[in-house]
Amino acid sequence: MDTGAKKLRVGWYSFTCCEDSTILFTELLNTHWDEWKDKIEFVDARVLKTKGEMKNLDIVFIEGAIAGTEQIAKLKKIRENTKVLVAIGACAVTAMPSGWRNTFTPEQKQEIQFLVDRFSHLPKVEPLSAFVKVDEIVSGCPMDEGTFLKVLNKYIT
Ligand code: SF4
Repeated sequence: MDTGAKKLRVGWYSFTCCEDSTILFTELLNTHWDEWKDKIEFVDARVLKTKGEMKNLDIVFIEGAIAGTEQIAKLKKIRENTKVLVAIGACAVTAMPSGWRNTFTPEQKQEIQFLVDRFSHLPKVEPLSAFVKVDEIVSGCPMDEGTFLKVLNKYIT
């Protein structure tokens, strides 16, 4: 039953990563749907609906590291449209393991430079916090479920 109470407007985004935390998130939805359906509105989450709206978000969860200039622009746009930004998983928090190329030798870096140039990739893969303010972090690879639930519950009214 919809109680009519204001729902938390939620977004879920993925950048460079394997998206395993997204899979974990959808599994959590199966378990917690009854408890969340009157409290949360998934406004922008490609995994749940094809057409989202990045506007007036209360909280966003972002997995993955930032590897290219277009991603920086999108990340900044997300930041402008949300009250709370949560980095999800090791890649978003530390850039690793998705940022493996950061550990390449100069010779290896030379070999992949044409790809870096072609796709406007950054010289180094970076965590979210290199470009925007991060309010909460959920570490783990994939994310730690318990910490995720704790962070979400903190903002559910
Ligand atoms: S933190 Fe681990 S599970 Fe999450 S995107 Fe990165 S590699 Fe995949």
